[in-house]
Formats: sequence, C-alpha cells, structure tokens
Amino acid sequence: MIQTKGYATQDKEAKFKPFAFERRDVGPHDILIDIVYAGICHSDIHQARAEWEPMVPSIYPMVPGHEIVGRVSQVGGEVTRFAVGDIAGIGCFVDSCRQCPACTGGIEQYCVKGSAQTYNSTEMDRVTPTYGGYSKQYVVDEKYALKVMAQGDLSGIAPLLCAGITTYSPLKRWGVGPGKKVAVAGLGGLGHMGVKLAVAMGAEVTVLSTSPSKEPDARELGATGFVNVRDEEAVKAAAGSFDFLLDTISANHDYNVYLSLLGLNGVMVIVGVPTEPAMLNAFSLIGGNKVLAGSLIGGIPETQEMLDFCADHNIVSDVEIITPDRIEEAYDRTVRSDVRYRFVIDMANA
Ligand SMILES: [Zn+2]
Ligand SMILES: [Zn+2]
Repeated sequence: MIQTKGYATQDKEAKFKPFAFERRDVGPHDILIDIVYAGICHSDIHQARAEWEPMVPSIYPMVPGHEIVGRVSQVGGEVTRFAVGDIAGIGCFVDSCRQCPACTGGIEQYCVKGSAQTYNSTEMDRVTPTYGGYSKQYVVDEKYALKVMAQGDLSGIAPLLCAGITTYSPLKRWGVGPGKKVAVAGLGGLGHMGVKLAVAMGAEVTVLSTSPSKEPDARELGATGFVNVRDEEAVKAAAGSFDFLLDTISANHDYNVYLSLLGLNGVMVIVGVPTEPAMLNAFSLIGGNKVLAGSLIGGIPETQEMLDFCADHNIVSDVEIITPDRIEEAYDRTVRSDVRYRFVIDMANA
C-alpha cells in the first residue's frame, strides 16, 4: 500500500484536519497521480455536512474532492494512455461495473450497478472506502482517468472535471449551437461554465439570476442578455424567448417560472439539486410541447471530449486558489455565493 496524506472531516461539522491514509499499490492498469489542484464543488459541502442524507449517506472520515488535476508519477506495466510526467484528471467516479449497457456505452456515470464515486463511496468491491482529491495522491485505473493536454496553469482546469462536464453534456445532447437562444439560470460554479461553453458553441446566451449585481460579470463571460428573475416585468417580457434553458440553481425555486421563458418545443435541463421537492404545474409543459429533463455529469469519453473542447477554445474555470487550512472558510463563502467562481485547493504545496 502507498502511504499518503490528505484533509478529512471526521463528522458533519466539516472541520478539516490532516489525515494519513493508504492508497492501493499501483496495479498493472493503474496510474499514480500527484495531485496539484482539487476544486471545491458544492456537492463536497453537501456530503461533508451530511446534507444529502438519507439519499446519499455520508461516510467518515471523509476526504472530499472530485475535481482533480495532477501529474502522473508512476504507471502500471499494462498502462498505454499515460506516461510519467503527463497531466491527468479525475472526475466524479473512479470505477464502474464495466459490463452493463451504460458502461459499455461510455456513460459510466449511469452504471446500473452504481459506479464507484471518487470519494464518500467504495471501490467496486463495496468494501474499500474511496478518498477524494483533498489529498496528495490518487491511484486510479487509467480507463477512469482523463488526459489533460493544456500546459501552464492547471488551477482553472480542475473544476472542468465536474462543473465543466456537468454543463457541457446537456448543452451537447440538446444541440446547443449557432442560431440557438440559450438561457443559463444561476451564475455560480456551474453557471459560469455553462455560459462560457454555450458561447463557445456559438449560441446566443442570456443569464437568468436573482442578483442584478451579476449582470456585468455575465456580460464579461460572453452573455448578451440578462434577466433579473425577481423582476416580474422582466420575466414577462422574456416569456417564450429561449430554445434551451440550463438550470444550475441549487436553492429552491419555482420551475414553472423558468419553464415560462421557453419557446415552443423548448427544453429545460436541471443540473442543480435543490433540497426540497418542486411543484410542477402540468400546463407549464403541455402549453408549448416543452421538455423538462435532468443530466448527471458525463461519461469518460464525453469528459475527454469536453477537456479537448476547452483546450481548443482556451476555456478554463475562473478560480480562487486557497491553501488547505482555508477549506472551511471556502465552504462558507461558496454557500454564500461569495466566490468567482470556484475555489481550488493548492495540494501540490500543501
Ligand atoms: Zn461536483
Ligand atoms: Zn456498469
């Protein structure tokens, strides 16, 4: 076993302390990644604070982190895609059954047996706990690692592994591109990636937000429209305007209001997870032949496609880099939306 170190919380108080633990030895198909940066995703906070129980039990000690980028420092004898020194990424899962239609179809996140999550989960043996990216090293099968071709600063790449693919996948699936009018609801870690990606895909993008103060930022990211959804007149004026709406909001909100902004055959995809179940008026969908859908990250092939797309278009996440002693402060600020737009932990110098 490999002795390594990370930062763990022992309970739902989510106080992070140095934590020594073991990674498995590098097997024939494994690579060892020396982690450089780990992004802080809102779902880290939910799980560290046990806010998703009982749906998602929190397992302690917990080392969160599923937006991981680092340098390959060792490869197994059968590894073909990576060499020592390469930059590699790990996203939300690190293994799956490899046999079900989802796994063989490259959408391993929907593995019917349940994929092995990067942390707060177990390996596919259902016994060995997984520890995430708030740590110095990770051992992963090369099939579940991503190649990062970008050079230079890696901090803005880490969040692509969750925030990037979470927004890229539904934009691609529903045909966002030139001539499409796209709305992105919420301008946080997910939303700012949604805006950048939809703009790069050639769509006309409008940001929907409850904070009018975010309009300049939205426009700087490439949005050409902005609707303050607290302003009833503005919402009425924008009714029926959009072909596609990406809903990244994790606070409770009224889906019917957002559906009213879609035009005929419009599609709204939910990627944010509010804590309360939502009320949906059937007329909100029936009236315009509308679709309300969900989406969960992306499979390994599409995550690689997204990283390559971002490298081609010079897209990274806007980040604030912190040292690991500031994780709790970063959690509080993330909950208050007081970050542009993602915290990234410097693990290389930790
Ligand atoms: Zn995430
Ligand atoms: Zn499977």
